[in-house]
Amino acid sequence: MRRREPDFAALRAQMVAEQLEARGITDPRVLEAMGKVPREAFTDADDRKRAYEDIPIQIGWGQTISQPYMVALICEAAAVRPGNRVLDVGTGSGYQAAVLAELAEEVHTVERLRQLAERAREKLDAAGYGRVTVHLGDGSLGDPEHGPFDAVTVAAAAPELPHSLYDQLVMGGRLVIPVGDRRGQRLEVVIKSPEGPAVAHSVACRFVPLVGAEGY
Ligand code: SAH
Repeated sequence: MRRREPDFAALRAQMVAEQLEARGITDPRVLEAMGKVPREAFTDADDRKRAYEDIPIQIGWGQTISQPYMVALICEAAAVRPGNRVLDVGTGSGYQAAVLAELAEEVHTVERLRQLAERAREKLDAAGYGRVTVHLGDGSLGDPEHGPFDAVTVAAAAPELPHSLYDQLVMGGRLVIPVGDRRGQRLEVVIKSPEGPAVAHSVACRFVPLVGAEGY
């Protein structure tokens, strides 16, 4: 017999209030998107009931679905607007890509591990995000074929700013990326300007390493 499932809509609303609004996420579109995307559809089946906990959760192959607050913070920092084209590096479960799909017109996401890319494709389709494009490859090099992008979000930490990702931004576009190593990382918000990258440091964070040509 199947166990009764928790009231996911209620847990989601609680997550938005207690983990996001209470910690200073204010963009109404981000709050709305986070209140809409079914995070339980992106965890492994055994972890569904834990989906709204205030933590990253293992998704296999040494990777995690990011903590809800981090996803919201990245989306807010990326300042995604309707009509935008966005690149999401490090698909993982596909959750962040789904949230971005609520905010933007077009979302491309790149994952280096085939098994995760395939699973994310299935999960995105099942949750109604068939219009997100999942690419298999080294996202540290971006996706030159589909750029330039209004925003690029990265869910894995780079040793320094990857030039390819910066280059694939439109003027005024934003790159949100954790920079640092296992000991310490900061989420950086980089805006492309005619004078070069304008970098604003945000909060301390902890992500898995970006593994690739412009990563580790
Ligand atoms: N945003 C994801 C979090 C995934 S964790 C989510 O919401 O679930 C980061 C992911 O980045 C991992 O799946 C890892 O395999 C992937 N990754 C690491 N280096 C990468 C690279 N160079 N290109 C693409 N994906 C990469």
